Amino acid sequence: LFDTHYQNEDELVKRPPIITVMGHVDHGKTSLLDAIRHTNVISGEAGGITQHIGAYTIMIKDEKITFIDTPGHEAFTAMRSRGASVTDIAVLVVAADDGVMPQTVEAINHAKDAGVPIIVAVNKIDKPGANPDKVKQELTEYGLVSEDWGGDTICVNISAKKREGIEELLEMILLVAEVEDLKAHPTKKAIGTVIEARLDKQKGTVATLLVKSGVLHDGDIVVCNDVFGKVRAMMDDKGNKVKVAGPSTAIEILGFNEVPGAGEKFFVAENERDGRKYAERRKAIMKENALKKSGPVSLDDLFNQISEGELKELKLIVKADVRGSLEALSQSLEKLNDNDEGVRVSVIHGGVGAIAESDVALAAASNALIIAFNVRPDANAKAMAMKEEVEIRSYNVIYHVMEEIEKALKGLLDPEFKEVVVGNAEVRETFKVPNIGLVAGSYVTDGTINRNDKIRVIRDGVVIFESEIASLKRFKDDAKEVQAGYECGIGVENFNDIKVGDTFETFKMEEIERE
Ligand code: GDP
Repeated sequence: LFDTHYQNEDELVKRPPIITVMGHVDHGKTSLLDAIRHTNVISGEAGGITQHIGAYTIMIKDEKITFIDTPGHEAFTAMRSRGASVTDIAVLVVAADDGVMPQTVEAINHAKDAGVPIIVAVNKIDKPGANPDKVKQELTEYGLVSEDWGGDTICVNISAKKREGIEELLEMILLVAEVEDLKAHPTKKAIGTVIEARLDKQKGTVATLLVKSGVLHDGDIVVCNDVFGKVRAMMDDKGNKVKVAGPSTAIEILGFNEVPGAGEKFFVAENERDGRKYAERRKAIMKENALKKSGPVSLDDLFNQISEGELKELKLIVKADVRGSLEALSQSLEKLNDNDEGVRVSVIHGGVGAIAESDVALAAASNALIIAFNVRPDANAKAMAMKEEVEIRSYNVIYHVMEEIEKALKGLLDPEFKEVVVGNAEVRETFKVPNIGLVAGSYVTDGTINRNDKIRVIRDGVVIFESEIASLKRFKDDAKEVQAGYECGIGVENFNDIKVGDTFETFKMEEIERE
């Protein structure tokens, strides 16, 4: 259905590009989106100030450009994990006084994995400490070589604050869009993506849709996976009521029977009966899939896909405690590409520090496995990994990572022992106890702390020590085990540097049984 739009090439027309602005926090993404909106107001287009509806369109040189109004790669990747690639071009904002930062690298990797071209906006050039050349130099490390240095990445110097360089940036966007040759069908029933959706007490379901191809009309029956409805009202990004919306325009609509998911695709059904039938069938299928556990990313699953020849590329996200380990690991993993199995190994993203939600989102979107080297997920990332069924594999020896991945490539699946995390606790107080050393007054948050299991100390998501449990007490008594929800005193063998706020992870080795 979604492909039929593009079948008759001679019927297609050019459509405006859809842009997402990405970059490190505080580098000026929001300011840039504001500046662009403002540019449009100055140019005197009817309607005036834009409303926040999730995306807006501007005119420059008689051409249109649509911007997704939620900056950052988190939203970009969350949408992609639902199957929709909305963005045609990514604008990467890098502050000229700060340079390439961790989220800059994340944004580059997210855009690259999605196959989306990147235009760099070197921002804050008005600042005294601005050094655009240093930014360009740093970007070369990530494969983005500026055009004036012989590469093919367009870099534009801007000041979002002083509104300088904005027009030039917009012109560059049009230039890249031209090359991308973006097309849509001008008349068919609309297809597109949900950008945002919420429940409003008065209005009911409010959804922002981005039409990708075709035309959406007031009164159409829209279907979005398991929800549907008749469009009751349509509002454009200037707050005007409209009756039709063509390719690459965002509109806010009322009428869905339930709140659709951001990033889901929508289409227009022939009539209400068809729309309802489709949505109900999807609902039934989804219920069935939920029981079957759909779409997990685990090493076992990837193993199976490789051995059945279904998977030609093993994608990995590597997070490590220090840069040295990250580099050593990434290099060793890339070397595995010289294998006889014909399976590529790609490290699609690497970083230092705890595993964050955006890492999990990227893994879910791109069917990648997360390799955690001496680091752990933060609470949000952990919850998301459970929900999205993304496996995070923890290691503390590079050799073990290599050994397992190498085996995966060969379709061998035989680590006989696997590490199992048994419990987690957080340190709330510390005591110096004569003859014993430091004891951590701890609260067990998950599972069970067993006296005989091994223990790791984690600080800010990074594993800082691993050894045995030296003592486990409930009040004054020795305990064999302490369950989640209870407090206990924990001593760690050979480690007296425990601090309030540290967390413990206890684990044991378990024999793996396979079918
Ligand atoms: P975001 O987190 O990437 O969305 O960044 P913001 O747009 O919120 O900007 C972060 C800070 O940088 C704000 O205080 C802005 O006023 C400031 N800022 C943004 N662009 C510029 C610029 O071009 N020049 C200067 N001097 N400051 C800027």
